[in-house]
Amino acid sequence: MLTPELVLLQTTVREFANDVVAPVIGAHYEERTFPYEIVRQMGDLGLFGLPFSEEYGGGGGDYFALCIAIEELARVDSSVAITLEAAVSLGAMPIYRFGTEEQKRTYLPEMCSGRMLGAFGLTEPGAGSDAGGTRTSAVRSAGEWVINGSKAFITNSGTDITGLITVTAVTGTRADGTKEISSIIVPSGTPGLTVAPSYSKVGWNASDTHELAFDNVRVPLENLVGEEGRGFAQFLRILDEGRIAISALAVGLAQGCLDESVKYANTRMAFGRTIGTNQSIAFKIADMETRTYTARLAYYDAAARMLRGEDFKRQAAVAKLFSSEIAVTNAREATQIHGGYGFMNEYPVSRMWRDSKILEIGEGTSEVQRMLIARDLGVL
Ligand SMILES: Cc1cc2nc3c(=O)[nH]c(=O)nc-3n(C[C@H](O)[C@H](O)[C@H](O)COP(=O)(O)OP(=O)(O)OC[C@H]3O[C@@H](n4cnc5c(N)ncnc54)[C@H](O)[C@@H]3O)c2cc1C
Repeated sequence: MLTPELVLLQTTVREFANDVVAPVIGAHYEERTFPYEIVRQMGDLGLFGLPFSEEYGGGGGDYFALCIAIEELARVDSSVAITLEAAVSLGAMPIYRFGTEEQKRTYLPEMCSGRMLGAFGLTEPGAGSDAGGTRTSAVRSAGEWVINGSKAFITNSGTDITGLITVTAVTGTRADGTKEISSIIVPSGTPGLTVAPSYSKVGWNASDTHELAFDNVRVPLENLVGEEGRGFAQFLRILDEGRIAISALAVGLAQGCLDESVKYANTRMAFGRTIGTNQSIAFKIADMETRTYTARLAYYDAAARMLRGEDFKRQAAVAKLFSSEIAVTNAREATQIHGGYGFMNEYPVSRMWRDSKILEIGEGTSEVQRMLIARDLGVL
């Protein structure tokens, strides 16, 4: 199913994850530090530019290539995988898809190189699943947008190499009384933008997540991304695609749980034999493989539909829903197979267990995916 180019990419990222990420990521996770050196090397490998055209510094690949890279990274570590996913699919993609030529030429080459990370600020303290509840506002004044409000849980928004945050803000009211929402680029360091200290998170501890406050933040009118009032439609598209990437991340984590479980089941001795010779353990592993394989097919199919230009909304939601839920199941089972050692932070499965839960929440909760699927089937 994969082309020779994608197999090469898969192999390259797999080796990178095993050789470069695996030895050091546990320490970053424990110390909650951002892995700048790993990110720099991911940039050198061209991972941040994978789906973008060469004229903007990209690699000329496509969204599926990005997903393959994300899956391979997540097989070893999810913090690194979400850093790539958020930088590309949430940070750079809105500018690539909807930005002006000047915005693309200004920002994309740095973002494709990995020297600069972008973030996407949609969620607010009072508006997550219900993004229409956005309260952050942007008002025109003296040739600038003046932005006020706050955003919650924004990935990649506070690293030393974060260059911009594209925020959604209310820019008016429509005739039917609903909010008109637009996307606006806010460069890091703009006066009035406050990046709160890192959250203390359950998982993704080597990734960067902050709450942001906007107090009369002024940016040029040209920082509008795409048409005014199209912000809602833009982020719906970005999130539809993003679900395929999160599905790939979940499949990677599920596969990592399986890899670690096979190794452990074949070496851990109990009652004079390896634990994998017990059918109850072997069957857990068989089920982990079955779930992972099926989830992978789901995201491959959603990505293929998207690349063919077909409708892929429902398939992306199905892939995201299924793979995030099986990732949680695989993580729980992998920990069980590891016994007490699975509860120790030195074992990768402990990290995978902590990292799995957010997959059922970020970029649309499982409930939101079920709503999307049911609506698409005409029953909600
Ligand atoms: C580590 C992390 C990183 C993140 N990164 C980003 C980022 O980079 N950019 C960004 O914009 N956001 C980001 N998010 C935010 C994330 O997308 C939201 O947390 C998510 O969309 C859920 O929103 P919420 O937390 O406000 O939960 P809520 O929307 O308040 O939901 C709470 C619960 O109610 C359920 N619920 C809500 N409405 C309904 C309904 N109508 N029917 C049934 N159930 C419902 C939800 O499914 C959920 O179970 C991140 C979050 C985390 C934790």
